[in-house]
Amino acid sequence: MIDNPTRPTDPAIGSTVLGYPRIGPRRELKRAVERYWAGRLSAEELAAAGRELRARTWTELAGSGLTSVPGNTFSLYDQVLDTAVMVDAVPPRFRALGLPPLDTYFAMARGRGDREGHEDVVPLEMTKWFDTNYHYIVPELGPGTAFAPAGEAAGDQDVKPVSEYREAAALGVETRPVLLGPVTFLLLSKPAPGAPAGFAPLDLLDPLLECYAEVLRRLAAAGAAWVQLDEPAFAADRTGAELAALRRAYERLAAAPDRPRLLVAGYFGDLGPALPVLADSAVEAIAVDLVAGPEAAREIPALPGLRRKTLVAGVVDGRNVWRADLPAAAATCASLLGSVGSLAVSTSCSLLHVPYDLDAETGPDPRLRERLAFARQKVAEVVLLGEALRAHDPAVTGRLAEAGEAVRRGRASARRDDRVRARIAALRPHHRRRAPYAERARAQDERLGLPPLATTTIGSFPQTDQVRRARGELRAGRLDEAGYTRRMRGEIERVIALQERLGLDVLVHGEPERSDMVQYFAERLEGFAATEHGWVQSYGSRCVRPPILHGDVARTGPMTVEWSAYAQSLTSRPVKGMLTGPVTILAWSFVRDDQPPAATADQVALALRDEVRDLEAAGIRIVQVDEPALRELLPLRAADRPGYLRWALDAFRLATAGAADATQIHTHMCYAEFGDVIAAIDGLDADVTTIEAARSRMAVLGDLRAAGFGRGVGPGVYDIHSPRVPSEDEVAEALAAAVRTVPAERLWVNPDCGLKTRGYEEVEPALRHMVAAARRARVAARG
Ligand code: GLN
Ligand code: ZN
Repeated sequence: MIDNPTRPTDPAIGSTVLGYPRIGPRRELKRAVERYWAGRLSAEELAAAGRELRARTWTELAGSGLTSVPGNTFSLYDQVLDTAVMVDAVPPRFRALGLPPLDTYFAMARGRGDREGHEDVVPLEMTKWFDTNYHYIVPELGPGTAFAPAGEAAGDQDVKPVSEYREAAALGVETRPVLLGPVTFLLLSKPAPGAPAGFAPLDLLDPLLECYAEVLRRLAAAGAAWVQLDEPAFAADRTGAELAALRRAYERLAAAPDRPRLLVAGYFGDLGPALPVLADSAVEAIAVDLVAGPEAAREIPALPGLRRKTLVAGVVDGRNVWRADLPAAAATCASLLGSVGSLAVSTSCSLLHVPYDLDAETGPDPRLRERLAFARQKVAEVVLLGEALRAHDPAVTGRLAEAGEAVRRGRASARRDDRVRARIAALRPHHRRRAPYAERARAQDERLGLPPLATTTIGSFPQTDQVRRARGELRAGRLDEAGYTRRMRGEIERVIALQERLGLDVLVHGEPERSDMVQYFAERLEGFAATEHGWVQSYGSRCVRPPILHGDVARTGPMTVEWSAYAQSLTSRPVKGMLTGPVTILAWSFVRDDQPPAATADQVALALRDEVRDLEAAGIRIVQVDEPALRELLPLRAADRPGYLRWALDAFRLATAGAADATQIHTHMCYAEFGDVIAAIDGLDADVTTIEAARSRMAVLGDLRAAGFGRGVGPGVYDIHSPRVPSEDEVAEALAAAVRTVPAERLWVNPDCGLKTRGYEEVEPALRHMVAAARRARVAARG
């Protein structure tokens, strides 16, 4: 990747990126894949759409001036799933379907429902890709899994990396195929159902390495000079055994006789003890993330192994949309030159996590635009950095300095709100503290008079076609504000009437006016900007367009009050106000990098605090502040967690602690594995916490009790992610188990998440069963 030495005595300088978006600049892949699923596109047409997108990416990257172009960054669904297919780790239940390879691949990702007349086959689990908002498919491995290089989803002649390498070569582009590293692949996998206790996927390291060695041999035979193996799992805390596996893996792969040169990439943080392991190994290059793990720059000079290797310095942030401070990045790179065999400049991680192209945007104000860089612009930054380090060309140095100036100018022009800053500076601990829970609970009981095992929902009701149409017509200017408000009110009337009919105790307005729980607030707060085409893959064909949080945040007026107050005017039962919490708003936005996230979170929290006050003034007695992403932002390394939790909890408490004692604050969390954040749930000090717990709901209750949690809790009694309608008995059983752990007065009965992705034909009977089961459990608890 650095085979272009300019001055033989100097280290050669290369430039590359670790990966690239693949969904298409206009989400072409999303559309093609979804049309294939709907039977409106043939397998050949889908393959052609993929080929076209790959060709565009390769030619663009090759033409950009990078000295090494990544390959195999395309995926029809997910790169971890691709890896499972590449090593033939297809669980038997999918093989048994006897489908063509492409459909087996999609069945692993999405399952196979009975709607099409097929057997019910549960898909592989999906979970978050480290601390990003991307979700990958979790491979299932058992002692019986036999690895072997296997053809691609679309039924290619060879494994996907080899066929894509050849495809690029035929277009005249030499690529560096990117593979998920074998150790990270195993660490991300889970034991297959029925695997014996004590089995761990890492037990399969040796056979997997043989399979990888064969893939490497084929890549070398096809002509690949370099291969990139991604091992991001080592940016998190790892055991001695896991580090030993890393050592063993790269000893084995480096010793393979016919192989390309190996670049091992660690990203999303500092590699910690894995860096010396890799430095000692015989791989030819190591990529480090100097944005998320700048500490590595200090460790590198102390590692003599690196003097014989290429260091790929990830100095351009691959995860955020800000322009790089190129002079600073160049200085970092220059300081490393003496400690390494050669250097390549790179992004910190794959560009998968940022939108394609800033030039596609017409929207942002020029001062904001000047601060931004999307994938395409980041490639140009890397190329320029490489040029600047290679030769002392005054023109290049000038452009570098200009870029540095632009960053400084941009930061100086960021929206500044002295009023908000003064309020933040004046905050004292009591602003984040409410009265003791017992006092609040008394005031709330008196005011709300709710029964034990109170029933409620998480906020959204099904988003019907009419609701979506109204939003679309408003946006297109075919519906005026008044007409839109009328339609939303009509929807709220229906949702309130339905909930009264069903007999729910605490009602919601149904959130018809929100297409997205973060975007809705971002559109109403100062300091945020939206993009037109800034799509980023979230999972499979699903993309999101995160808002850009670029300046001081301030509320210009009430954001939700009109809807909540209208809903409350229709009923005597309490209607919950619905807000998205500060941590979740940060997690699902691109967040400014010129101040600590804690400071940004407090600004968002202050805006929410004012909203809570306004809701109270409008007669709202219960306010829910959703924090589904609290777990998501948890740092990969345990040592960084207390610091994060401190600011995250502080921000939540700032948002909620302005409420009167008699106002009941709810919070909601989902995307499970609460073990890590159970203490944090307590620290939020909400009066009621409703939680989605994908695995075992009742286990969460046990964990909460063990942690001494003594406030209200609503474990989701049924899974809204499935179209299945739970029976009354099923819910009653879950509740009977729950009351053994949590007293009925503190136990809430609710689904495990919002209902917006479901249809009324499922929601109505499910809620009817839920309410009936709660009544039964109430009687049982009294008796
Ligand atoms: N109140 C939101 C809803 O019901 C919560 C969504 C979430 O937890 N992700 O849609
Ligand atoms: Zn949820």
